[in-house]
Amino acid sequence: MKQYLIIGSGLVGRLLAWRLISKGHQVSILSSDNKTGTGSAGFIAASMISPATEAVQTEQKVKHIGQVSADLWPKWLAELPEEVFYQDNGTLVIAHNGDESEMARFTRRAEHILSSDDYAELNQEELADKEPQLAQQFDKALFFDGESCLDNRHLYRILTTILTMSPFCDWQQCDEIDSISLTVLEQLSQHHFNCSNDVFDEVIDCRGNGAKADLLGLRSVRGEVIRVHAPEVDFKHAIRLMHPRYPMYLAPRPNNEYILGATVIESDDMSPVCVRSALELMSVLYSLHKGFAEARVLEMASHCRPAMKNNLPIIKRTNWGLQINGLYRHGYLFSPAVITDVLALLEDKVESIQFGELFDV
Ligand SMILES: Cc1cc2nc3c(=O)[nH]c(=O)nc-3n(C[C@H](O)[C@H](O)[C@H](O)COP(=O)(O)OP(=O)(O)OC[C@H]3O[C@@H](n4cnc5c(N)ncnc54)[C@H](O)[C@@H]3O)c2cc1C
Repeated sequence: MKQYLIIGSGLVGRLLAWRLISKGHQVSILSSDNKTGTGSAGFIAASMISPATEAVQTEQKVKHIGQVSADLWPKWLAELPEEVFYQDNGTLVIAHNGDESEMARFTRRAEHILSSDDYAELNQEELADKEPQLAQQFDKALFFDGESCLDNRHLYRILTTILTMSPFCDWQQCDEIDSISLTVLEQLSQHHFNCSNDVFDEVIDCRGNGAKADLLGLRSVRGEVIRVHAPEVDFKHAIRLMHPRYPMYLAPRPNNEYILGATVIESDDMSPVCVRSALELMSVLYSLHKGFAEARVLEMASHCRPAMKNNLPIIKRTNWGLQINGLYRHGYLFSPAVITDVLALLEDKVESIQFGELFDV
């Protein structure tokens, strides 16, 4: 059994803590966030797990890392004490008539970087078979089988319960830790856990956007989403709408709830959703199905995605521990693969990693 200190309790921090205690290790967590996780990007996220459509919109490597995670998610979710909403009906990609050039660009990229088995072109009849309400507005689509999404808030709640109930986890809320050093770690360990930093076999920094002072090149990419309850709409697939400004998507949740997102703005601004984005998000929603007119807006939220220059994950060794960061818009798409990599690294089973960039100093 080893003792780990995890700093940051967002998506990566809490998933890693859960995997470590499952393996019989002792974990201490320090985070400025509350235990619900409202201060993390992972709490706001749409939590789509879509390796192929994301690869088309970003880069080819995303498909490989994403597919490893997509295979792991059902296994990880099956280990939880409650069933989490997880829908793997696939993704439908569509465009309005005026945005056909966006659709043509997406299709060309798909042809270039994916294999023809990864997707199918649907005509209106085939689209109506899969998603009848969508075929009222659109006459064709690309279909990506097997892509999924999950209920992130439920996942967060369950992990909070597991971690707070476990005798192997000590989770303390703290002030923001702007910069980490051996001296800072010693002070934090004494103050919060009444022990020396030496008791920890490894310190793992999972502060996401909060790690900028310690990770050169880390940037924030603002995203805004809207969450609605729409009893008149019954979509069973994740939907991506080709849009001239942002790649928009609609992620289903249980009980006719939907998340529509997301803006992609190079900024570390975490202030509430702006009026222009709200108007755009709402008009996209209404353009997908007129039934959204009577939907109730449950929430509009914004947060920032922590990203490196190449938009790929980074795992970095420092003189005080290990940093995991840069999951950008792929926290759910990448976490199981990246965390599996990190676990192997922590258990000294590997010297290098597969699913991100490892930097040793
Ligand atoms: C609008 C939006 C939509 C998204 N949709 C998707 C999606 O559909 N699919 C997908 O795969 N990914 C999506 N993502 C991306 C995903 O949410 C992130 O990649 C992921 O949350 C990053 O995980 P993390 O643990 O590194 O950071 P976070 O989840 O942000 O967690 C960091 C934690 O550290 C804490 N912290 C921060 N600073 C400090 C500090 N100084 N001291 C102590 N604690 C600190 C924070 O409060 C937080 O709890 C989306 C993100 C956004 C913003």
